[in-house]
Amino acid sequence: MGSFYNGSVYVLYKDTVFEPSSAIWHCTSFFNILSNHFIDEIPPIICIYTDGGPDHCTTYGSVQVALLCLFLKGDFDLLVAVRTAPQQSWANPAECIMSILNLGLQGVSLVRENMSDGMEKLFDKSTSNDVDAFFEQLILHYELMKQHKLHYASTTFYKILLKLHCQLRTYSFQIKKCGDSRCTICKPSRTPPSVFQSLHFLPDPLPSDIKTTNSEHYAEFDTLYGKETSDQYQPSKIETQSKCHKVQCIYSEKQLTVQQITDLQLTIETWDYTCGAPVFPENHSLHNLIFVCEKISCQTSMEFAYYSCRKSKPERYYWCGSKDDLLIRPQNLVDSYQIVYPLCNNCDDEGNDFYCRLAKKTNASKKRKC
Ligand SMILES: [Zn+2]
Ligand SMILES: [Zn+2]
Ligand SMILES: [Zn+2]
Repeated sequence: MGSFYNGSVYVLYKDTVFEPSSAIWHCTSFFNILSNHFIDEIPPIICIYTDGGPDHCTTYGSVQVALLCLFLKGDFDLLVAVRTAPQQSWANPAECIMSILNLGLQGVSLVRENMSDGMEKLFDKSTSNDVDAFFEQLILHYELMKQHKLHYASTTFYKILLKLHCQLRTYSFQIKKCGDSRCTICKPSRTPPSVFQSLHFLPDPLPSDIKTTNSEHYAEFDTLYGKETSDQYQPSKIETQSKCHKVQCIYSEKQLTVQQITDLQLTIETWDYTCGAPVFPENHSLHNLIFVCEKISCQTSMEFAYYSCRKSKPERYYWCGSKDDLLIRPQNLVDSYQIVYPLCNNCDDEGNDFYCRLAKKTNASKKRKC
């Protein structure tokens, strides 16, 4: 709460054994801290800026459900949750306090002993009862909707919630009251109607001049606020759109367990992988278990393993990994090599050639020795 530079910082120690980090745990204890801090009324708009760990990653269903619970429980008009890009949590001002805390806690180990009953109660803020009560928010609304037999038969409760009240991006998840008086999910707005009407989702950063997408500056907040925006200009998306379509093979020494496969799939769904980067950060459970070839960069070619793998897959160009704009392999190359890797129009324009392997042993090519 608050940043290193202003506001007050709330530090929470927790028992990693009995209170493992999870999205719903964070939201529950966060709500308790808010309720204690704002005695009269919690403000109607809340912005949360966190790192992108699995307990905060806004694209995970578990995190979205927890945030929805927080939104309902706190009766917020607008909830904005933004996370930092992987390995970039330094960008979050609140993280600056970590350097001081690390200094203070250097070489300190903490033992948890039973305190007096009163103190135990005080510290026992986020027990499983509290967490259950949090989930009840959602269940309650779900039951209500079933009672009213709202004509949402074809869609699920969760989808309605997401569709009418939320905006999902790679790095943010926002929930806003819909303002429809017939809505059974949100209560009337707490901000005055005039304020609520001018309340919008936090816009995505867009270049100041959209026609020339490589414009150097982002547009001013005021020019975007309240407008329909998308995250198509997110730097990692622009990078992949315009240049690199490479597909990377993932390697593992051992067969993965079911849990590991699920973890891997979850990660890949939300992946912004850039060639040459390690595939998992050091604190990830799959670190040192799953590898990619880090020598492959956006400038090098695709790896041979992709082409030799027998799983069915679309044909991709050897140099850039793109799938479109295929050039026809010249007959003279097909005649003289066993493998002629695909080449796309773009790469051809940039001066790349068809990459060939394994010369066919005809009398003519034997002498040329390829
Ligand atoms: Zn609503
Ligand atoms: Zn690349
Ligand atoms: Zn290409």
